[in-house]
Amino acid sequence: MLAVNVNVPEKELHTPGSSRHYGHLPLRGARKSAPGISFEFFPPATEKGRDNLWQTIEQLKVLSPRMVSVTYGADGSSRDNTYAIVKRLLDKTDLVVAPHITCVGASKAELREMAQQYWQDGVRHIVALRGDKPKSTEGLPPASDQYSYCSEFVEDLRKIADFDISVAAYPETHPEALSPAKDIENLRRKFDAGATRAITQFFFNNEHFLRFRDHCALFGIEGDIIPGVLPVENFTQVQRFATQCGTEIPVWLKERFAGLEDDKHTRKLLAAAVAIEQVNDLRRHGVSQFHLYTLNRADLSYAIGRSLGLKPTKETRAGASA
Ligand SMILES: Cc1cc2nc3c(=O)[nH]c(=O)nc-3n(C[C@H](O)[C@H](O)[C@H](O)COP(=O)(O)OP(=O)(O)OC[C@H]3O[C@@H](n4cnc5c(N)ncnc54)[C@H](O)[C@@H]3O)c2cc1C
Repeated sequence: MLAVNVNVPEKELHTPGSSRHYGHLPLRGARKSAPGISFEFFPPATEKGRDNLWQTIEQLKVLSPRMVSVTYGADGSSRDNTYAIVKRLLDKTDLVVAPHITCVGASKAELREMAQQYWQDGVRHIVALRGDKPKSTEGLPPASDQYSYCSEFVEDLRKIADFDISVAAYPETHPEALSPAKDIENLRRKFDAGATRAITQFFFNNEHFLRFRDHCALFGIEGDIIPGVLPVENFTQVQRFATQCGTEIPVWLKERFAGLEDDKHTRKLLAAAVAIEQVNDLRRHGVSQFHLYTLNRADLSYAIGRSLGLKPTKETRAGASA
């Protein structure tokens, strides 16, 4: 049973701009801690996609990311691809590599075996997720040999090995959650089960993140909540992602990209400006760690890293050209 005692009325958890100053005031000492960055990649299905991914990794690794993560298809379809990329990253780079593992639809035994294999390969950080349920099983309980929720998976991962475990968090509430408060209780359960940090779903309205961060603190969550940042290069694609996961597209963002469908160059400039404004605003509110959804492209993520003051060093440059 989760012992959470919070005196925040449920309706306040919903209300943007409610009278409480959730995270709205710049923190004393904000911007003082050195910024850190992590990059998320997905496993491409084609040879061309894989070549592109390696070029992207070469370009980004010079910024010394704290971790790079590789996503996993919840239907298990990317299992071999994810594993191959993680293995190559471990063998060929000094990066801290974190494979995503989703538990929906897989047996506990299968997942334990996967985690043990990763540990033997040298993986020390896992991004643990439940994954989206396939439409055909929505509303049905999982089979008896499967995890129902990510928190159960995290608890088991902890028993397998001393992994550093990141989990997912939702500033605008996970679409299946019964309420924002219940969703934060779930996040707390994941931390209580052994997660070390949470990485958020992408968002464009920083108010959502700042209010969420404050609510997490009220629920007794002390672990880091790292904002997930998605540069908007292809607005139509991002709109689709946003609809799927319940992320608000602010009117100002829509207006900035309106009419630029055939103007890739301006879209890219704007995408960089929007993401850089977003991370710098978060910096002013004391955020120092950022997780970038790279979509396997280097240029925007590199620019965002540079805007945070991250630079290649002699050593990382030498490593990149080796
Ligand atoms: C950083 C990040 C990376 C991601 N990477 C991937 C990826 O690689 N592959 C992929 O397929 N998907 C990925 N996702 C998407 C994620 O798998 C989906 O959002 C999924 O629907 C929920 O996963 P979860 O781990 O948050 O689930 P959970 O934490 O299990 O939560 C799922 C839902 O159940 C509710 N819940 C939890 N516990 C209980 C309980 N005891 N009783 C009632 N309700 C409960 C929660 O509030 C939530 O609504 C990622 C998301 C993020 C933010």
